[in-house]
Amino acid sequence: MGRGSALHPTDPVTRLRGIGPRLEAGLGAVGIHRVLDLLLHVPRRYEDRTQTVRIVDVPAGREPILIRGVVRRLNVRRRGRRGRGLVQAEIVDASGALPVAWFNQTWLAQQLRRSPEVYLYGELRPDPRDGQPQLVNPVVEPVDRDDPAAERIVPIYGKLGPLSGRRLRRTIESALSALDDLVDPLSPDLRLSLGLPGLGETLRQLHHPNAPVSGSERQSWIESLGTLSTPAHRRLAFDELLGLAGSVTRLRSLRRQQQAPPCRSRRRLDELIRLPFELTGAQVRVARQIRDDLMRPFPMARLLQGDVGSGKTVIAAMAAVAVLQNGYQVAVMAPTELLAEQHHRSFRGLLAGTPHEPLLLTGSCGVAERRRILARLCSNAPELVIGTHALVQEGVAFERLGLVVVDEQHRFGVAQRQALVEKGEGPHLLVMTATPIPRSLALTAYGDLDLAVLDELPPGRRPVRTVVRRRSDSDRLWRFVAREVADGGRVYVVFPLIDASGGLEAESLHENLEDMERRLSGARIGVLHGRMKRSEQEGVYEAFRQGRVQVLLSTTVIEVGVDVREATVMIIESPQRFGLSQLHQLRGRVGRGARQAWCVLLVDEGMSAMATQRMQAFCSTDDGFRLAEADLRLRGPGEMAGLRQWGADGLRFASIFRDHDLLELCRSVATRLQEAGKLEETLVRLAELYPAARDVPGY
Ligand code: ADP
Ligand code: MG
Repeated sequence: MGRGSALHPTDPVTRLRGIGPRLEAGLGAVGIHRVLDLLLHVPRRYEDRTQTVRIVDVPAGREPILIRGVVRRLNVRRRGRRGRGLVQAEIVDASGALPVAWFNQTWLAQQLRRSPEVYLYGELRPDPRDGQPQLVNPVVEPVDRDDPAAERIVPIYGKLGPLSGRRLRRTIESALSALDDLVDPLSPDLRLSLGLPGLGETLRQLHHPNAPVSGSERQSWIESLGTLSTPAHRRLAFDELLGLAGSVTRLRSLRRQQQAPPCRSRRRLDELIRLPFELTGAQVRVARQIRDDLMRPFPMARLLQGDVGSGKTVIAAMAAVAVLQNGYQVAVMAPTELLAEQHHRSFRGLLAGTPHEPLLLTGSCGVAERRRILARLCSNAPELVIGTHALVQEGVAFERLGLVVVDEQHRFGVAQRQALVEKGEGPHLLVMTATPIPRSLALTAYGDLDLAVLDELPPGRRPVRTVVRRRSDSDRLWRFVAREVADGGRVYVVFPLIDASGGLEAESLHENLEDMERRLSGARIGVLHGRMKRSEQEGVYEAFRQGRVQVLLSTTVIEVGVDVREATVMIIESPQRFGLSQLHQLRGRVGRGARQAWCVLLVDEGMSAMATQRMQAFCSTDDGFRLAEADLRLRGPGEMAGLRQWGADGLRFASIFRDHDLLELCRSVATRLQEAGKLEETLVRLAELYPAARDVPGY
C-alpha cells in the first residue's frame, strides 16, 4: 500500500491503489464510500480456473479449459469501429500450440502484444473451415500482472459504477487486508451457537475462495459456491434478515413498555352498537380478541386480515365505540377520499344508537370545516375522526388519542401508520387489510403486529364467476351488460388509463367512452377518475350507489373498499396491466348481494404468454392468498407497500422466498437478544456495517 498505517474497513475508498477523486465520486454515486462498502459488493458467480491444461492434453469436449502459454502470430482484421473484426493467433506452451480466435474485441491485440504471456480461459470449438479445434473468445489474464485471477477459483463481479468487473476484482483483492480490523457485529458466542462463520472470514472466502483440497468435498464446495449457498453467503443473508427481524422485534417490545389507555368494557363489543345483521362466527371471534386486547395494560397492535367483503368495517366500528366509551378519541385512516367518505357513512349508520357523531377530515375539507374539526380533536371530548392521510399532516393534534385504525394497510407504509400512532401516547392500533399477506412477508413487514383473521364471508354470497373475453369479440358481452342493467344490476368498467398514452399498450377510459355510449345506448353511464374534482367524484359515486348511474366507467379509484351491493358485473379492460392482488381487489367490488356476479377480463389478441398465464391463474381461483403468493412470485416483493419501508424489497444477500428458515431463525435470535438486553447494540452495529439498514423505521 505504501501509504502509512494499515488499511481500516471504514477508510475512504481513496486509500486504495488507483482510486482517485474521479473514481471516488463515481463510486460515491452508487453508494460506495468506504473500503467496507466495496468489500460488501460480493461476486455474482465464480469460475473454476484451478487446473491448467497442457495443450497436448486438451480434451475433446466443450467445457471451459485454462491454458497458460505465450500468444504468437497475432493477426488482426478490423471491420468498422468499436473493436469490430477478428483477432487470430495461437497459444504455445511447452507441449504444443493451439489456434485462438476473438471476435469483435480487436482491442485485445494491443494488450497481447504488450504482454504475450497469458492465461486463456474459454471453450474449444471446431474451426468452421477445417474442423480443427480452436479456442474461441477466451478470457485473457496476463501472467505478469498481480491480478488475482489465474489458477484459482475466480470471483466474477458485476460492473459497479465506474469500475469494470475485472478492475473491481483487483481493487477488492487489494482491500482484503482491511478485514483484519473488522469488528464482527455478532458476538463469538452467538456465532458459535448458530454455526455461522465470522464476518471477516466470510468476506475473505467470498472474494478469495480457497477450496478444500480433498476431491469430493472440493466438488460439492465448488458447487455450493456456484449457487451462492456457502456458509459465507448464509452469514451475510443472516445479518441482513437479523436487521429486519430485529427492528420489528424492537418496535414490538417498545410498544409493550408503553402504558395503554385503559379501555374496559363489561359488555360484549357487539352489544355496543346497532347491527343491521348477525355477526359471522369469525367476526364474533375477532371481536372477542380485540376486546381482550383493549383491556391489556399495553397498547393493542393487531393486524386484521380478511378477504374483500369479509366485514372488517363493523369490527373497526365496535373497537371504536369501546374506546370512545372510555373517554378516548379514535382516528380511522383510509387510503382514498372515496373510501373515507364511505366509512364516514357506514360509521354514522352503525353508531346511530350511540352519542358519537363521526367527523370527516380529508384534503378537500374547507378551511372553516378543517378548523372546526381540529379544534374538536384538541379538546377533551371523545371524538371519532375518519379521514385520509390528511390525518397525519402537521397541525393535526389529538388530546386523547386512544385508537388508531388503518384500513387497507397495503396502500400505506409502515412510516405513515407510525406517524399517526405517534400523534397519541401509545394508542391502540388496529390495522386492516384485504390483501392476504404470504406468511414469509407477514413475518417481516407486519411482524410487530398480532394477527387476527376473518376467514368467513357473511352468509348468502355466491362466488363471483370470472371469465376472459376478447375485445374483438365483445358484442355478446355488451348485450349481456345491457340486459343486466335493465334487470336492476349495476356494472363497473375499469380502465388502467384515463387518457391514451403513446407508450403504453393499454385501453384508456376517454378513448372508449363514445364507443360505450353507443353500445349501451339504453343505459345511464357515469365516469369516475382521480383527476375529477372531489365533489364531482362524490356526486358520480353517489349516483351509482342510488342507481341513477348504472354503468360506471372508472379507473382504480374504486379499487379499495367501495361497497355497492347492487353491483353485479366488473369488467376490467387491459387486465394484464394490473397485479393479481389488484385484480382480486377489483373483483371483490361485486358479488356483495345475493345475485350471481361476474368478473370479465377483457383482453386483446396477442397478450404475452406470461400475461395469459397470470389471467388463467386469476380465473382459476378466488383464493386471495394463493393469488398474493403468485403475484409475489411473478412481480416480486417490491410491489408490496410496507415491505419497502422495512427495506425488505432491497435485500441484497437474502431472499424472502428462499430464506424462510433463516428468517424464522432471525426472529427467534432477535427475541433472545432482546431478552438478554443486547438487541439494541446489535442493531446499531449492523446498521454501521450495512448502511441501507439505517433507513428502516425502528432501527
Ligand atoms: P371489507 O372486509 O371488505 O371491508 P365490509 O366491511 O365493507 O368488508 O363489508 C362488506 C359488506 O358486507 C358490507 O355491506 C357490510 O355491511 C356487509 N356485512 C358485514 N358483515 C356482515 C354480516 N355478518 N352479515 C351480513 N352482511 C355483513
Ligand atoms: Mg373495507
